[in-house]
Amino acid sequence: ITSWAHIPQGQPDAILGITDAYKKDTHPKKMNLGVGAYRDDNGKPYVLNAVRKAEQKIIQNKLDKEYLPITGLPAFTQEAALLAYGKDSEPLQEGLIAVTQSISGTGALRIGGVFLNRFYPYQKKIYFPTPTWGNHGAVFKDSGFEIAQYRYFDKTTNGLDFEGFMEDIRNAPKNSIFLLHACAHNPTGVDPTSQQWDQISKLIKERGHFPFFDMAYQGFASGDIDRDAYAVRKFVSDGHRIALSQSFAKNMGLYGERAGAFSLITENPKEKAAVDSQLRLVIRPMYSNPPVNGARIASYVLSDPELYKEWQLMRKKLKHHLVEDFESKLPWNHITDQIGMFCYTGLKPEQVERLTHDYHVYLTKDGRISIAGISSSNVKYLAEAIHEVSK
Ligand code: PMP
Repeated sequence: ITSWAHIPQGQPDAILGITDAYKKDTHPKKMNLGVGAYRDDNGKPYVLNAVRKAEQKIIQNKLDKEYLPITGLPAFTQEAALLAYGKDSEPLQEGLIAVTQSISGTGALRIGGVFLNRFYPYQKKIYFPTPTWGNHGAVFKDSGFEIAQYRYFDKTTNGLDFEGFMEDIRNAPKNSIFLLHACAHNPTGVDPTSQQWDQISKLIKERGHFPFFDMAYQGFASGDIDRDAYAVRKFVSDGHRIALSQSFAKNMGLYGERAGAFSLITENPKEKAAVDSQLRLVIRPMYSNPPVNGARIASYVLSDPELYKEWQLMRKKLKHHLVEDFESKLPWNHITDQIGMFCYTGLKPEQVERLTHDYHVYLTKDGRISIAGISSSNVKYLAEAIHEVSK
């Protein structure tokens, strides 16, 4: 009989483990600020109206449940690419973007990781910002990559360490792969300005580096889809052939539907056909083909002008409610200067521990809170709790 006794207990996931602990807590004032997900004023999960309407349409149309192609629903991948690259994008107009549906953003990163590990012609090492989303390291390690870091967050200012960032781009060996958060950097909520992005793009090009954009929050940073795509579009118009991971988990609230896309810009139609064929060979043995429902919902929302408008509006309202209302309550400027769904409070691990233990507020050890988990009914409680543990 095979024994599994040699297997050590694995570490619980840094973010998802927090939800488990939160669920076990019975305190009436408990708050889960670990996972970024839309919540209503009572802290209950919230589904956007445009998404509800798209679901109704799908039911009315009595669509079947046949398998999707390996690279997913074409109506969805086309809309996803259009959303990210914009209608004026040259490679999009010329049909040079290879795009596939993915199991949300994580799956897109993984497809990209496996593809690059197989075909990237230079060193299989990827540079992440310090800090970065907790899952980046595991995704790329499991895809066979060596991990390196570049400077990003400046703890003394709680802002961007632009000089350090630029220096690390300059000093990395030529043709290095740089993972860039397209907007609403997770976990810090600190993004480069558009002028800084221009300089980053220029330097990355000079050094021959390869930019891999992770765009998990398009529309969440500024509230404007196009403005949040600034970095991606600027790099593309500067002539970079980027890789891009997209997620519809946060900006459309489709978390569990797992709707996302991976895309890569190619040089000519022959190259695109070859990349498309290899993406299929990466995906087929991994999960064969992607789930249909979330892609259908997203494609309905994105292609129906009325639903699209409603989606935009609801997000703006939510952002206003979550971020603007919150602004007046917390005493620290960097919290309101940071953008997106997350906020890096600067709380130390022992202060985080006290928040959880004494105040039943759940968050990651690095002090990151999800703004989406705060509502007008508990913001004051949170402010007080943070004040108590940090004074
Ligand atoms: N990248 C970043 C930076 C993220 O914050 C997230 C979501 N937490 C993802 C990727 C992927 O999430 P999902 O797989 O749910 O789309």
